[in-house]
Amino acid sequence: MFDKILIANRGEIALRVIRAAREMGIATVAVHSTADSDAMHVRMADESVCIGPAPGSQSYLSVPAIISACEITGAQAIHPGYGFLSENAGFVQIVEDHGITFIGPSAEHIRIMGDKITAKETAKELGIPVVPGSDGGVADLAEARRVGEEIGYPVIIKATAGGGGRGMKVARNAKEMEHAFSTARSEAKAAFGNDEVYIEKYLTTPRHIEIQVFGDGKGNAVHLGERDCSLQRRHQKVFEEAPGPCITPEERARIGKICADAVARINYIGAGTVEFLYENGEFYFIEMNTRLQVEHPVTEGIFGVDLVREQIRVAAGLPMSFTQDDLRINGHAIEVRINAEKLPNFSPCPGRITAYHAPGGLGVRMDSALYTGYSIPPYYDSLIAKLIVQGRDRPEALARLQRALSELIVDGIDTTVPLFHALLQEPDVQSGTYNIHWLERWLAENLAD
Ligand code: ADP
Repeated sequence: MFDKILIANRGEIALRVIRAAREMGIATVAVHSTADSDAMHVRMADESVCIGPAPGSQSYLSVPAIISACEITGAQAIHPGYGFLSENAGFVQIVEDHGITFIGPSAEHIRIMGDKITAKETAKELGIPVVPGSDGGVADLAEARRVGEEIGYPVIIKATAGGGGRGMKVARNAKEMEHAFSTARSEAKAAFGNDEVYIEKYLTTPRHIEIQVFGDGKGNAVHLGERDCSLQRRHQKVFEEAPGPCITPEERARIGKICADAVARINYIGAGTVEFLYENGEFYFIEMNTRLQVEHPVTEGIFGVDLVREQIRVAAGLPMSFTQDDLRINGHAIEVRINAEKLPNFSPCPGRITAYHAPGGLGVRMDSALYTGYSIPPYYDSLIAKLIVQGRDRPEALARLQRALSELIVDGIDTTVPLFHALLQEPDVQSGTYNIHWLERWLAENLAD
């Protein structure tokens, strides 16, 4: 086992990794930008290294600075968290070339799942059902129109290099294709420096269902069921739960096995998520994330496992500490993402926290790097806390969420907490009957200025 690991991230996910490492008796190294000298992850780690100025591109994304921090402190492995360098195959290669262990999949696995066209091709080869669409990139408008006719409108044009819900445009008919195709391309170019796009059938009433998988890198893999992340704003998740309210045990076993077998076949190592849209009883692959996800705690809750601990174990060459048969679902877990944002426009709202009080009690987990007096810097993601609750069943989890939200105090800035108070009053949220478009519609009707 490692003696010391470095966490190449910040915020709540850095704390999450530090906590797992500490329970395993592993020393931790935090890295931070000059804007984060007072951040909680720096205070909580055993050691810390300043790796550059505030902008992420000069600090948390600076490969030479992170490798140097490892060498200076003698850290033997790097945990990337999510975001930043977590799915950067080039980074993983450099880490390994320096004799440091990357706590995550190999550069090759990240590469085959990295760009979305390659990912879809890989998924198809591995027997995973995919959304019907173009075979690879679409070069010009004529081809886009041909694909549109072939698969039938509406279609969605997506950036090959896309991520974070950006670079997607819907064309409802042939007439809309010209505009949608050219804006999708120019947005892809601006956001990702790559204007390649592909086309998929646009599903009109799907839910977002994703399967958590975990491999040991030696041909063994398991699945840890699904998460339903259908409540989304701008294709970004805001509320996640496990198990999915609409998934039967038979469906879970079937799609779970397909995903576990697929990753076992490629000797996948560590945590991964296979994302699907789910409509009329069918699963359609959209992408695979080769890392720990923001919403992993709901899965940890219902299975009673520590996914970060497992990541560290398999990276050190140890076997997973559970088999598929050991994994049993216990209760229901829900996570809400609390952002430093001002409603109704969700505009970023960094600033000083004048008072902070985290909720507690049975079945409540608060993953956050906030503290009273902390100043949220304006440079990074606006996620400031994840509130995760668990109950014996969904109604109990929902009641607990409402109770926990009412205990939470975050003063000094605006947050998205009022959104969740309002959502919990909605019959559709209470019954779990919504698809990926529900929240956008609700926001337009209820939160418009
Ligand atoms: P990203 O990597 O940017 O998150 P994804 O491919 O994972 O992009 O898609 C994010 C979200 O966009 C999905 O959860 C869904 O809400 C929507 N989406 C993606 N593809 C489709 C599709 N074919 N039909 C309808 N909605 C889609």
